[in-house]
Amino acid sequence: MQVLSVASEVYPLIKTGGLADVAGALPEAVAAHGVTMRTLMPAYPAVLAKLAETQEVHVFDTLFGHPGRILSARHHGLDLLLVDCPALFDRPGGPYLDASGKDHPDNFRRFAALSLAAALIAEGCLKDWVPDLVHVHDWQAALTPVYLRFGRRPETPVVLTIHNIAFQGQFSADIFQELALPWAALHMDWIEYYGHLGFLKGGMRAADAITTVSPSYAEEILTPEFGLGLEGLLAARQNALSGIVNGIDTEVWNPATDPMIAAHYDAARLEARRANRKPLLDRFKLDAPEGPLFCVISRLTLQKGMDILAAVIPDIIAQGGSLAVLGSGDAELEALFEEAALAYPGRVGLVKGYDEPLSHQLQAGADAILIPSRFEPCGLTQLYGLRYGCVPIVARTGGLADTIIDANEAAMLAQAATGFLFSPVGEDAFKQALKRAFKLFNEPRLWARLQVQGMKTDVSWDASAGRYAALYSQLCAKG
Ligand code: ADP
Repeated sequence: MQVLSVASEVYPLIKTGGLADVAGALPEAVAAHGVTMRTLMPAYPAVLAKLAETQEVHVFDTLFGHPGRILSARHHGLDLLLVDCPALFDRPGGPYLDASGKDHPDNFRRFAALSLAAALIAEGCLKDWVPDLVHVHDWQAALTPVYLRFGRRPETPVVLTIHNIAFQGQFSADIFQELALPWAALHMDWIEYYGHLGFLKGGMRAADAITTVSPSYAEEILTPEFGLGLEGLLAARQNALSGIVNGIDTEVWNPATDPMIAAHYDAARLEARRANRKPLLDRFKLDAPEGPLFCVISRLTLQKGMDILAAVIPDIIAQGGSLAVLGSGDAELEALFEEAALAYPGRVGLVKGYDEPLSHQLQAGADAILIPSRFEPCGLTQLYGLRYGCVPIVARTGGLADTIIDANEAAMLAQAATGFLFSPVGEDAFKQALKRAFKLFNEPRLWARLQVQGMKTDVSWDASAGRYAALYSQLCAKG
């Protein structure tokens, strides 16, 4: 089976969050199930700079009025196709934001171009390759099935995966004419959304299957609180909706071989893990604590519950813990952690920004990772935490609830517990979970057991890749 995967970020080429990890790991994971996956993404300058060689495989007459072409390349086992359109993608800044942190004003056109290119590939514009199915990720690729339905090969099966329904790609209806879609698409059955345009909404209408990245989140988004306006449409498409939990790349994230960490270890050599602590203390300017060292690796946003975390810092300090925060995001939240670092020197450290090696080092050296998210479609950092013996303390929501087993008495006795869950998401419940964690941390044998149970959890793609492959087969068989 030949599948085209379409994403706006793909690890290790460019990454702002979990989407890149998933898009980067999926091709190899599904290959084991007989699926050949090629990945289409924009040719951002940062991506081109990493590719040793590219080949032109198609030239568009124009792409939204600009010269454009498709390049092919290989990188770290990925079979890539790139939308090379300098007018849209060759500029400073990140994939979505300009250098000053604002959305690129033409994001609608940039990602419509990505989607249109995907649809044209599915229609056969490359000489030697036509996919049997297209798998699109998030709003940036979600117009693909809409272009397909109004195009020359409308029957092409499409899977749309929603990594976070909070990002919907909504734009003013004024830009509709620029999208090169027929007027019929400006309808509530397609991309019209309460007088605006909804890219994700259109994709949800047009895709054959909608998946999201955990079974719990697939249920949560049917409610107004989590569906954020799209719950009605999802309810109408409930038969097409399913949740498939993300795996992680267990080669990139392997504490026994990870080149980014100081000391290698595994579940049988947990003592060796300790050597990863000192470099962290230095980097975060922390004193050597007796108590647990907690870490955070996150976008600093309200979704991630970072305000709740800031509120429990005095509690963490009072009980003898320390905190290392790696992240960037909302200015007010960044300021809260800057203040905490000043208020508790040697006990709270902040590294602002995005730092891939440091994220590995934290998982390898901290005792626990804190994830108090208000909602979490899947979450990857708790899976890395499991793999690295960095015990996850997480809100009971979405993928966090699906992947962590709470260290209650029964689960400890059954040797099944892997972390701490708390609900409702808020200060009080979080504090209770922290209190339980402190208690267990003071019983080193039990704490080590929790770490080892986490490390033995299967967080690989094996099971989920099989589910995607089965879904692809089912849709192709229908067509
Ligand atoms: P989301 O995609 O919502 O941000 P996920 O938990 O699904 O959250 O994925 C986040 C990914 O980004 C993980 O791989 C995590 O390690 C990484 N990450 C988040 N913030 C940082 C940071 N400041 N530095 C390095 N990696 C980070």
